[in-house]
Amino acid sequence: MSTTEASSTEATEADAPTVHILWINAGLSCDGDSVALTAATQPSIEEIALGALPGLPKIAVHWPLIDFDNGPVGGNNDFIEWFFKAERGELDPFVLVVEGSIPNEKIKPEGYWCGFGNNPETGQPMTTSEWLDRLAPKALVVLAVGTCATYGGIHAMAGNPTGAMGVRDYLGWNFTTPAGIPIVNVPGCPVHPDNLSETILYLLYQATGAAPMIPLDDAGRPTWLFGQTVHEGCDRGGYYEQGQFATEYGSPKCLVKLGCWGPVVKCNVPKRGWINGVGGCPNVGGICIGCTMPGFPDKFMPFMDAPPGSRISGAASGMYGGIIRRLRGITERKLDKEPSWRKNGRELTTGFTK
Ligand code: SF4
Ligand code: SF4
Ligand code: SF4
Repeated sequence: MSTTEASSTEATEADAPTVHILWINAGLSCDGDSVALTAATQPSIEEIALGALPGLPKIAVHWPLIDFDNGPVGGNNDFIEWFFKAERGELDPFVLVVEGSIPNEKIKPEGYWCGFGNNPETGQPMTTSEWLDRLAPKALVVLAVGTCATYGGIHAMAGNPTGAMGVRDYLGWNFTTPAGIPIVNVPGCPVHPDNLSETILYLLYQATGAAPMIPLDDAGRPTWLFGQTVHEGCDRGGYYEQGQFATEYGSPKCLVKLGCWGPVVKCNVPKRGWINGVGGCPNVGGICIGCTMPGFPDKFMPFMDAPPGSRISGAASGMYGGIIRRLRGITERKLDKEPSWRKNGRELTTGFTK
């Protein structure tokens, strides 16, 4: 590379805008998705935050879990100030990450359900929904992480007092940012670490123009991560096909009769593993309770009861599997023996026939 080319590349890199990641973990949340992200390895959050991957723009992460300044505490307002800067249009572009479900602040006469920092004009907590109203229309993309933020999750169960909902329910399912990007949903309770880090990585590449519009399904999930069912990637699929079902924990057989919803749940966890390829609910003995699905948890309860549909499919698989198992047993016994010509003696007894 010539000196001119080198200096022009340096100039381009220096001119490239910093992409800010503003993370609000103050929906109705247990912070489980923030904690999950610390376990990501493909890529890790450290690789993203430090810009260690080729082609990444300059990144500034404003996330309670790794920011030292987490105010306002003792007059230190540095952390929250980034969010006000974004509102004033001083951060461009920025990715708005939301963790936790959004309560309905309109259903009560006083107080607030959840907030994030203080409003300097009133000295009162700024509600999470007010942050969404202020920041979402200015964000490059809004990323809802975890099932609470995507669809309401546990806090939005029937009978809850807060009117909790997902970010799309709050802003509208047709909401798009000025860049024309719909709200991106990465569900899971908690979210799968690498599903989240990979989606953040994709959006950062999209921000630089290196990736096309993120492909999403009807529920707002990245299609390449949520295009298959748990069942399609489960280690125990062979047992299901042969009609062999566990009746107690500790068995290696299919868990459908113990309450596994894997055949109808979109999630790549059994294929991907949980951390570093290891784990993944049914693979390691846990039933799938459908935590990535918009109907979670109500439509999957009571947990640990066999799903209603599994009675028909399980019975069919039991009958079909019983026959297949017997036929396979015949073949297996045949294949489990060496060919007859492999023996000692003076005569050549190969299986060769003319
Ligand atoms: Fe916690 Fe699950 Fe909600 Fe995430 S989706 S905030 S892990 S309850
Ligand atoms: Fe399917 Fe669940 Fe059985 Fe795995 S354990 S094969 S996901 S029903
Ligand atoms: Fe949730 Fe089921 Fe995926 Fe486990 S396998 S993470 S329970 S959707």
